[in-house]
Order: sequence, then structure tokens, then C-alpha cells
Amino acid sequence: MPTADKALQGIFCKLEERLNRARRLHPEFACGPYEALGALEAEAGELAQEICKGKPGWKERAEDELYDVAVVAVRMLLREHVREEG
Ligand SMILES: [Mg+2]
Repeated sequence: MPTADKALQGIFCKLEERLNRARRLHPEFACGPYEALGALEAEAGELAQEICKGKPGWKERAEDELYDVAVVAVRMLLREHVREEG
């Protein structure tokens, strides 16, 4: 298996772990597209802060925040922010 594919596989595995953790911690992360967008913006803001501050260990923290951004994006793609009409 090529190295890039192995790296991608590692990212997907970690993303799945992070997604499962997020679902446990926040079963209902947003109740509509605007709230979901707010969650995405908040995580992107945290990522930007880590990069802009550039304090020691920022690369690890930025990667952590990048996974937060990805988890929210995946939850939006899975339409977890959409509630069934009751
Ligand atoms: Mg975060």
C-alpha cells in the first residue's frame, strides 16, 4: 500500500474515533444549519488561534483542532444537524 494511502487511512481511523467521541459528548451538536455553521466557525476559530499564536506545541494543538473542524464538517455532511419534522 502506498505511503499516502496509509497516511489517509490513519487520518480516517482517527477521524472516526473523534466522531464517535463527539457523538458521545454532544449527541445533538446542532439543531439546524445555522447552529451547525456556528459550530464549524467556532472550531475553525480555535484552529486559527493555535496557528496564529504559534506557541510551543502549536502544531499538535492545531492538528487536534483540525480534527474538530473535520468532525463538525462530517456531521454536517451526514445531516446530523437536521431534525425530523415531528
Ligand atoms: Mg476545538
